[in-house]
Amino acid sequence: MKPKWSPQEEAIVSLLRSGEWVCIYNEIKMKDDRARLSAIRRKLAPIGYEVQSKPCTIHNHTSRILMRRITKAKPIPTNFPYVPSPQYKEHD
Ligand SMILES: [Zn+2]
Repeated sequence: MKPKWSPQEEAIVSLLRSGEWVCIYNEIKMKDDRARLSAIRRKLAPIGYEVQSKPCTIHNHTSRILMRRITKAKPIPTNFPYVPSPQYKEHD
């Protein structure tokens, strides 16, 4: 099932769907791309994909700009959520 994208989301997704790291900021000057990306994340999660982020290493930005990519989400481990054993103590 393919999510329904708004035109702005579609523009971002088409940049990221190759799975390569992309500096969106350098490609599209889009206001509020954080809000777009959180909407994209919400729509990708049910179909098993996620948006990853890391600081841009391609350009010399004066501020902290993130690169993004879309990858298959890691399967959630079967022992999730992790439950500490009863013996576990914060202080001894
Ligand atoms: Zn960049």
